[in-house]
Amino acid sequence: MMNIPYARQWIEEEDIERVAKVLRGDWLTQGPAVDAFEQAVASYVNAKYCVAFNSGTAALHAAMYAAGIQPGDEVLTTPITFVATSNSALYLGGKPLFVDIDPKTYCLDITKIERAITPATKVIAPVDYAGYPIDIDPILKMAREKGLVVIEDAAHALGADRNGEKVGPQADMTMFSFHPVKHITTGEGGVIVTNDETYYERMRLFRTHGITKEPAAFLHEAEGPWYYEMQALGFNYRITDFQCALGSSQLEKLPRSLARRRQIAEKYYAGLKDVEGVLLPPIPENPHTTHAYHLFPVQFMRKDRKEVFLSLKEKGIFGQVHYIPAHLQPYYRESYGFKPGDYPRSEAFYQREISIPMFPKMTDEEVDYVISTIREICL
Ligand SMILES: *Cc1c(COP(=O)(O)O)cnc(C)c1O
Repeated sequence: MMNIPYARQWIEEEDIERVAKVLRGDWLTQGPAVDAFEQAVASYVNAKYCVAFNSGTAALHAAMYAAGIQPGDEVLTTPITFVATSNSALYLGGKPLFVDIDPKTYCLDITKIERAITPATKVIAPVDYAGYPIDIDPILKMAREKGLVVIEDAAHALGADRNGEKVGPQADMTMFSFHPVKHITTGEGGVIVTNDETYYERMRLFRTHGITKEPAAFLHEAEGPWYYEMQALGFNYRITDFQCALGSSQLEKLPRSLARRRQIAEKYYAGLKDVEGVLLPPIPENPHTTHAYHLFPVQFMRKDRKEVFLSLKEKGIFGQVHYIPAHLQPYYRESYGFKPGDYPRSEAFYQREISIPMFPKMTDEEVDYVISTIREICL
């Protein structure tokens, strides 16, 4: 019996060895492995700055803080995302504002952003759904005209290219997550990359209780060598050194794991493209833009999604649904008055979608088995 999850981490002996080395050393947290990992991520995506956090959600929270979200400010994003994208603004008293998806990219519909913006809008938070890099230039242009900050949720898009550049510092701040299902893992963890020094400093402060030990940054005179200042209400959002050792090791393997994801995607396209009623994810039209295939979202247009989901499960294929539209979650309905029908394309997408297994350790045999099982169910 096969047992194939929709996603899975890829840990090798050398990853374990790199973690063990830190555990045998002096620094478990706030040590050199954190700086080294931040520098490695920054250099991989060609960003000036990188701040690592103990989760992608904490990273988004810090970015929303750095952007200056205050009670009542609106954050505009897509309903087809993990709730953390908008939650990170709600922690600061922000309000969620959604724009329906573009049925071609499954990302938020860029042509609908302008009409949705109100005087209270402060941040646009596009999501590179499944690893498809959203066209960021028109969003940045609109944001510049209206004085908004763009925070890209690239949790799915580490290693994707957009117009020949790695997804990274194009937005004001960009988040990557290192949860085990993502491209690389630190167990739990995430980063923000940015080219803006002010955002960078604000996020570093936020990560450590709002405390600085930098004499140059002190607001009052230092009373002695022990002196530090708490200048804002921050959190303890620090990541550990052993997690960052794992992250650095994982990052070195990213080109290999991305290549394997793309191979699996090609097999899926080849094996499923002729199945009627099965809609496969979009391939970017621009030859210098590449999909990172964190997920392989399939829409079942003729068969009932739940039936397909259960049939797959019976055969040992454990898909997942990404996502229940955020605005339909009870908390969002009760707190902000959202209701079914508000974002029809997102809701229709949700009704049909299953993310079929996609992770670099998948064998060809497993990929073929997923293909033949879907063909059996749908033909
Ligand atoms: C995983 C994910 C997050 C949150 O990341 P964590 O590291 O799990 O906190 C945010 N947004 C999206 C789209 C994600 O997939």
